[in-house]
Amino acid sequence: MNLVLFGPPGSGKGTQSQRLVESYSLSHISTGDALREAIRKRTPLGLQAQAIIARGELVSDALVTSLLREKIAPLRENTDSFLFDGYPRTVPQAATLAEICDEFRLQPPATLNLHVPDELLIRRLTGRRICPSCGEVFNIYFKPSTLAGVCDVCAGPLVKRVDDDPETTRERLRIYHDQSSPVLDYYAERGVLYTIDANGTTDEVFEKIRSVIEEHY
Ligand code: ADP
Ligand code: ZN
Repeated sequence: MNLVLFGPPGSGKGTQSQRLVESYSLSHISTGDALREAIRKRTPLGLQAQAIIARGELVSDALVTSLLREKIAPLRENTDSFLFDGYPRTVPQAATLAEICDEFRLQPPATLNLHVPDELLIRRLTGRRICPSCGEVFNIYFKPSTLAGVCDVCAGPLVKRVDDDPETTRERLRIYHDQSSPVLDYYAERGVLYTIDANGTTDEVFEKIRSVIEEHY
């Protein structure tokens, strides 16, 4: 089984990915995580992507696709079940993913679309605080840490993602509606789009995802 987890920034793709990976033993490929890793390691690709991401814009299709291929190739030796998180984000990327699945002899993916209203997305993104040491995610509105700015798990300092400031957040949502949402039509036309109301707790959303998967796969 191959899945695409699709949704606007702040829809909870990262959190739900973790749950999906644990429950269905999928190999997780997140282009956002891969890009942030490339930036940390200061690879040529990371250096190219850094400013683009900080502006809330999309990295070029060519660049993310090469990153995606780099990630799939070694994993494919041990698995045929992937969770694609954050890719595709444009219609050309969706077409490329179909080609890549063909090439790596993978079943065409089903797409889970996490739907959340914009007003809520803005609060989720601008309120998000992450712990760089252990990866725990907090939110000053919805899931505050016990001590402001300090991780409950490892006591490390919490930080904001550079692209989570209010202005960049609005730009990311604009770009989502403009460039990414047409991907939904692409998958709907192919009969493999499942939209989930993701305006709920992590557990509630995961239950909905599970029932969709169990009903169809
Ligand atoms: P979010 O869904 O919260 O925006 P991601 O971690 O998926 O976060 O992505 C962060 C940023 O990385 C995006 O705003 C974009 O600049 C870049 N990015 C990630 N995946 C892609 C992609 N498939 N195509 C283009 N840019 C991407
Ligand atoms: Zn921590």
